[in-house]
Amino acid sequence: MTDRPTRTRAATEEKTGSRRDRERPPAPEPLPHPVVDNHCHLDIADADRPDDWFSTREAIDAAAAVGVTRIVQIGCDLPGARWAVEAAASYDALVAGVALHPNEAPRHAAAGTLEDALAEIERLASAHDKVRAVGETGLDHFRTGEEGRAAQVESFRRHIDLAKRLDKTLVIHDRDAHEEVLAVIDEEGAPTAG
Ligand SMILES: [Zn+2]
Repeated sequence: MTDRPTRTRAATEEKTGSRRDRERPPAPEPLPHPVVDNHCHLDIADADRPDDWFSTREAIDAAAAVGVTRIVQIGCDLPGARWAVEAAASYDALVAGVALHPNEAPRHAAAGTLEDALAEIERLASAHDKVRAVGETGLDHFRTGEEGRAAQVESFRRHIDLAKRLDKTLVIHDRDAHEEVLAVIDEEGAPTAG
């Protein structure tokens, strides 16, 4: 399963119309000390060149060659979270984070599947000892409009609770929602794992 991407991303931002530079840059100079990449999406390919996906093995090897020896693979929807768990179980260099992304939670709420999806995230978060984080969760006021905000907040609260119960690190996504993210964390209380 981890030998192919879970989804693709367009080179052009749907909301702003701006074009992202998808050219793969040359490898940088190796770092003087090993570091961890704490947030990566190895399972997403470019929509305009899906056949040119940087495979998991290639990405891990390219990172290690310049001193990035460990990577936190973040799964943001159910296929991505399953992929992250399997990848972490398969590759020594990877650990996983699992969650419903703040833009994914309103889609589940609208379809009536949020509770089932949260239950599956909880199952995946406990599925392997290399799942170390719950995330990315949080709030995104850039992509999700008013109609999805209550579902985002509910999902964020539930992920905070899950991180606390399972003693996992919480990974937060905050886009144009700083005050609200802090308010929810204040109300729920921040997890202390990490
Ligand atoms: Zn991310």
